[in-house]
Amino acid sequence: MTQSSQPSLAATKPADDVPVIEIRGLHKAYGSLEVLKGVDVRAMPGQVISLIGSSGSGKSTLLRCCNLLEDSQQGDILFEGEAVRWRGTGLHRQPASHAQVQRIRTNLSMVFQNFNLWSHMTVLQNVIEAPVTVLRQDRRTVEARARALLDKVGIGDKADVYPAQMSGGQQQRAAIARALCMEPRALLFDEPTSALDPELEQEVVRVIKALADEGRTMLIVTHDMRLAADVSDHVIFLHRGLIEEEGPPEMLFGAPRSERLRQFLSHSQPG
Ligand code: ADP
Ligand code: MG
Repeated sequence: MTQSSQPSLAATKPADDVPVIEIRGLHKAYGSLEVLKGVDVRAMPGQVISLIGSSGSGKSTLLRCCNLLEDSQQGDILFEGEAVRWRGTGLHRQPASHAQVQRIRTNLSMVFQNFNLWSHMTVLQNVIEAPVTVLRQDRRTVEARARALLDKVGIGDKADVYPAQMSGGQQQRAAIARALCMEPRALLFDEPTSALDPELEQEVVRVIKALADEGRTMLIVTHDMRLAADVSDHVIFLHRGLIEEEGPPEMLFGAPRSERLRQFLSHSQPG
């Protein structure tokens, strides 16, 4: 089945009261290692949710389950109200429809810690590649959009250079432009600033804040408590595969209730 024969999501604006991403009772194991033990997440349109927690608590796994890069054994995943259809159960559970997976995945763009730019392509080629080849959009239209996005993230002059010729902060901004060029319904960030020196981190943080201000729906895994505090509507603290505490950033950072969260925050204060 070709992409162009699928219904165009861009043509149908969903209601504001339908979550862009909804996860219900999600369980995920790698072999005998239970990584997610019944997790619920709901991202409403325009909402920014940060996922915090110690290394190994399951944050990346949760993010990767959202866009179906990982299988899960139990629980529901809904994209704009549409439930992922499964075949098989437990360790044998898999998405039933490849077309559905593709459609959902192309609507949830991911930004990775290590940028994951293609090193043999220029920045512009990186940004236009998926819209042109996966979404089969007109190259000129995509290129115009890509250049505007590169301007927007402050690297309009870097369109024709290769990733290796840029700083980490510039590469991550190129990766964000690439994610945006897919015109996704939501953005998923996995530790977007972790690989950057503090001064480069700020240029990426500024871009993420601007995206939050323009009403993008975002899920952000981060170790940067200041970023989480500044951009999120809602913060989720994961502990060993379960949500230990969640709420608005003022509550989570200002008045944490659980001892585990208090301990976690004492090791990673904002700023
Ligand atoms: P976080 O992002 O919070 O640091 P992860 O979601 O990456 O945590 O990992 C959660 C747990 O799952 C860890 O114990 C990790 O070692 C394990 N894990 C992650 N990916 C895999 C994998 N592909 N195979 C086996 N175990 C994995
Ligand atoms: Mg991780």
